[in-house]
Amino acid sequence: MMTTRDPDCIFCKIVAGEIPCAKVYETGTCLAFLDIAPVSAGHALVLPKDHHPTLMDVPASLGGDLLEALGKVGRAVMEATGAEGLNLFQNNYEAAGQLVHHAHFHLVPRFSGDGLRLWTQSSYDDPDEMQRLAKKMADLLK
Ligand code: AMP
Ligand code: ZN
Repeated sequence: MMTTRDPDCIFCKIVAGEIPCAKVYETGTCLAFLDIAPVSAGHALVLPKDHHPTLMDVPASLGGDLLEALGKVGRAVMEATGAEGLNLFQNNYEAAGQLVHHAHFHLVPRFSGDGLRLWTQSSYDDPDEMQRLAKKMADLLK
């Protein structure tokens, strides 16, 4: 099988076993390990082993493997930590907080009343803007 790797990428080095990790799950295409700076204990990362910088670069053919890994690891994160909930986070590009440019998914255990604020929501000033943006995206997807 062809593998893609970036020699400067820390997650590629973890995949290759050159840097240690707290490994949770591994398949032929995916790896999961605990985040070294967790939101809370048990915060796990799931990634394709091949180097793809962002979610938009990950081939759809990996979707099934990734979804299966996310489901299995997500259940294990919840059971191992006793979490009552679970968030899936995924950052792309620096503006969105991506620090490691090897696409990965964060699984964060959640507890009622843990106080973690995810995001603040707003509204559209111009009611037409929402429809205009939706149309622009839909046109791009044609
Ligand atoms: P992101 O901001 O989505 O790119 O997240 C990158 C995550 O990787 C951060 O939450 C880091 O704490 C985590 N991280 C960086 N280096 C390591 C490492 N060697 N082992 C485990 N997690 C790491
Ligand atoms: Zn990489």
